[in-house]
Amino acid sequence: MEDRTIILQRELEQLRAQIAALERALQETPDYGLGRGDPAVTQWELDYALLQQLRERAANLERLLSDKSSYGICERCGEQIHPDRLAVLPDTRLCARCAREEKARVL
Ligand SMILES: [Zn+2]
Repeated sequence: MEDRTIILQRELEQLRAQIAALERALQETPDYGLGRGDPAVTQWELDYALLQQLRERAANLERLLSDKSSYGICERCGEQIHPDRLAVLPDTRLCARCAREEKARVL
């Protein structure tokens, strides 16, 4: 269990570095006054969308790390999440069965 939180912590640090780098890049806002379809605008938008994703992921990791007692426990059924699953998806909050059921529900 201990090594998992170290992995998460390292991932969170990497995410924070990526977020900081993206935030710096995004401060150079493209000039929207210039011709429509400027590729710089598209890249900016892509970067912005990526930043939102990274922030969400970082928030998710922070939540997991701040609540270590429930780490590795499925938040849906309360069962222990299989260690093999955690090894592949260290920030998952659902056991394999619940993840399948959630997916089936959404689709
Ligand atoms: Zn479950």
